[in-house]
Amino acid sequence: MLVTAEVIYLDYAATSPVDPRVREQMNRWLDNRDGFGNPSSAHSVGTRAADAVERAAAEVAELVNAKPSEIVWTSGATESDNLAVIGAAQFRRIRGQHIVTVATEHKAVLESCAFLETRGFEVTLLQPDESGLVSSGKIAAALRPDTVLVSVMHANNEIGVVQDIGAIGKLCRQHDVLFHVDAAQSAGKLPIDIRAQQIDLLSLNAHKACGPQGIGVLVLDTDRIRRVEPRMFGGGQQRGLRPGTLPVHQIVGMGATMKLLTDGMDAEVRQLTALRDHLWAGIRDLPGVVMNGHPDHRLCSILNVSVDGVEGESLRFALSDLAVASGSACNSLNGEPSYVLRSLGRTDRQAEASIRFSVGRFSTEAEADQAVRSFVAAVEFLQSLSPVRIAG
Ligand SMILES: *Cc1c(COP(=O)(O)O)cnc(C)c1O
Repeated sequence: MLVTAEVIYLDYAATSPVDPRVREQMNRWLDNRDGFGNPSSAHSVGTRAADAVERAAAEVAELVNAKPSEIVWTSGATESDNLAVIGAAQFRRIRGQHIVTVATEHKAVLESCAFLETRGFEVTLLQPDESGLVSSGKIAAALRPDTVLVSVMHANNEIGVVQDIGAIGKLCRQHDVLFHVDAAQSAGKLPIDIRAQQIDLLSLNAHKACGPQGIGVLVLDTDRIRRVEPRMFGGGQQRGLRPGTLPVHQIVGMGATMKLLTDGMDAEVRQLTALRDHLWAGIRDLPGVVMNGHPDHRLCSILNVSVDGVEGESLRFALSDLAVASGSACNSLNGEPSYVLRSLGRTDRQAEASIRFSVGRFSTEAEADQAVRSFVAAVEFLQSLSPVRIAG
């Protein structure tokens, strides 16, 4: 619940309501109770702000077993992905100009790779299997002597499939190739340990985890890579990697968000898994409903289904009491059905008629029940209109 709306919000993978505990921490900076300074200032007002930033960095670092000094603040996971992929590749370009990534990555990674192609890099775009998984063997086969970077997301934002980050990290380390992971969806839902999983660059944000929009981090394993080529230029803040006055209220908010994840992960994962499974149990027996993604290797918060025998647009219209995402063309900026579902071998029609339910901290069983009722009614009604008979 928490959100006051006539619709049931099941789109936490798009963004999530800010936890009141996080908001309180942010408000303390916004109304100057805790301070208001520029962390770069040498006087005591600035020092106080710098201390708050340092505490927040420690909170983020703890979630992923990094050091506070390895946190680079950004405006969100998009910027972190850009800085990681472009910055690391450019920084290492004397060693080689080949990058390996996956067709189902977030556009922030894919478009960064496309940009690098215009600058002389070659990009190998791997296709996942029909469940969305990419094996480390497939990645191994794509590595070349001139490969400098592998970028594979932890959990996919559309279908929730979880990649074997540890195995890929090990492989990259053996070949001395840098490894970037976009963990915007998995923070607080799956264990992340940059040292154990051998992740060199990690992207996170706050707003997918009940924190504020507009803040994220790039985590750098500084034992492996001390610098990346910056994408912004200015007053030298953050070792020049990402200059600009630090937004202390945002940073404090992200620290508080990550702290809640660290402290509450086990209970939250249990709660979200139960809700997700409750949704699936309620709709799985409908004729023509198929789950997209891997049945086991998937995030506790995301359920993505396609429905045969109904039209995507009608389905979305019939579900207007639910705030859910769909793989339809009009849900995307480029006007095409989900490229993620297309990569799994789904047809345009199946991608169009797909719905992503994503639950979060404030979702309730009553909301899941209502969503099931709406979905079942919509699908049964639309299939009853359809001349095509659906196999069960
Ligand atoms: C939401 C998301 C992003 C973009 O994050 P912003 O903070 O909104 O820029 C990147 N990658 C993944 C996997 C995401 O889910």
